[in-house]
Amino acid sequence: MTTATLQDTELAGIIESYNGVTERLKQSHELLTREVGRLHEELHEKNRELARRERLAAIGEMAAGVAHEIRNPLGGIGLYASLLERDLAELPGKLDMAKRISEGVRNLEGIVGDILAFSRDAAPKCVVSPLSKIVDNALTQCAMAVEANRVHIDVDLRLTKRILFCDPSQCERALVNLILNAVDAAGKNGHVSLREGAHREADRFAAIVVEDDGPGVRDEDLHRVFDPFFTTKDTGTGLGLAIVHRLAEANGGSVAATNRREGGAAFVLLLPLANVSEDSVVHV
Ligand code: ADP
Repeated sequence: MTTATLQDTELAGIIESYNGVTERLKQSHELLTREVGRLHEELHEKNRELARRERLAAIGEMAAGVAHEIRNPLGGIGLYASLLERDLAELPGKLDMAKRISEGVRNLEGIVGDILAFSRDAAPKCVVSPLSKIVDNALTQCAMAVEANRVHIDVDLRLTKRILFCDPSQCERALVNLILNAVDAAGKNGHVSLREGAHREADRFAAIVVEDDGPGVRDEDLHRVFDPFFTTKDTGTGLGLAIVHRLAEANGGSVAATNRREGGAAFVLLLPLANVSEDSVVHV
């Protein structure tokens, strides 16, 4: 081999390894850029969540104060309205007015109850709880609304086999709020279903999907449906989903809103699974 050819080969080798190093550097640069972007997004999301929590704490404190102040006089009005109803039993025209006052008071008591439920410290009393019982109790509570709207409800049997570790009454309340919204959205003769969703951490959480065939949530509203007092309904308080969010988090879970491709909304409630099998649970 001549000296010139040797130099060419060496040069080719140097260029090749230089190219290799450059390529590897480029790849790790791209990797780092992607990782920085992801961390940036994560930080942004955490900051947003922190700001939301601070805002919620302030709103909750103020709302609880107002609700407490309203609750006592409201109780008095309710009592006097029921006494009036008794005294006016013989005067149908006036009795009707007294009944309307009582009805208004009951509505306001419902709102005050929601505000207190939202702002109350939701310290859960977690126990091993079969999901079947939580679902059954929630459906019983929704029975009147379901019947009034003649809504068809399907419940996936796989879901009812799950055993949770949670505060059963809080999770029942969360589920009731989601089902009532779904029934409301589905409307007359609509369909609502409760099914098990797929989830990355399926060994730690049960994903309960409450979906309906109503109009769905407007895309621009999806990020704020869990904000307290956000409502698109004439008579809504906008507290139902805020309560679901608070209870889900207090129980170590979460809730998310999406729209179904085939139309309608789907809310996914994640609740922690208990570390036991269905057979080892004593049903009472
Ligand atoms: P409210 O029912 O009093 O309005 P919520 O907090 O329960 O309060 O719900 C907030 C808003 O989220 C509703 O007003 C509605 O716009 C939207 N929403 C909730 N559930 C559904 C659903 N299943 N389909 C469509 N929109 C929904």
